[in-house]
Amino acid sequence: RRLREGPILNFKAVLMGEGCVGKTSLVLRYMEDKFNAQHLSTLQAAFVTKKVTLPDERRAQLNIWDTAGQERYHALGPIYYRGSDGALLVYDITDHDSFLKVKSWVRELKQMRGSEIVLIIVGNKTDLEEQRAVVYDTATQYARTVGAQYMETSAKDNEGVSEVFELLTQLMIEHH
Ligand code: GDP
Ligand code: MG
Repeated sequence: RRLREGPILNFKAVLMGEGCVGKTSLVLRYMEDKFNAQHLSTLQAAFVTKKVTLPDERRAQLNIWDTAGQERYHALGPIYYRGSDGALLVYDITDHDSFLKVKSWVRELKQMRGSEIVLIIVGNKTDLEEQRAVVYDTATQYARTVGAQYMETSAKDNEGVSEVFELLTQLMIEHH
């Protein structure tokens, strides 16, 4: 297939979600296989880049945009997600408000970008299962109604993290 022989496809993917849900931790885990218990300051660069090879050998370059913490002061506006092919909408499974915030960003993305962008909703911090505030099935069903995928992760325990970025890559290739 052309995908294997031609130039590597380049995708922009953005992380969205309330402060402290673990966006930067997911990137750090995926890029460097590290975890930090402190709240992480902004990455040096506006985005990080990784070449991803899927199990079926399809390849793509992912340009992953993390927020600079601006979600704490105002909404992540259109400038942030402009031109993106995919978005990871992250919430903390122990924090119901962070799930509601994801819903509002999904509405905004649907309004602004329609079906141009692939969406994965990510419930992070599954290592805190005993404090869970959002039922797995509720999140899955919500995702289905908006045409998004749903996955759960623990950046701390390294559960599901590479799977999220690989699924995102796969969906963006298919959507391309
Ligand atoms: P961001 O503001 O969304 O980028 O969140 P950070 O990545 O800075 O993480 C916020 C806090 O949550 C930090 O104290 C992290 O160590 C913690 N954290 C991130 N992911 C996890 C996780 O999977 N499990 C647990 N228990 N804590 C996490
Ligand atoms: Mg962050």
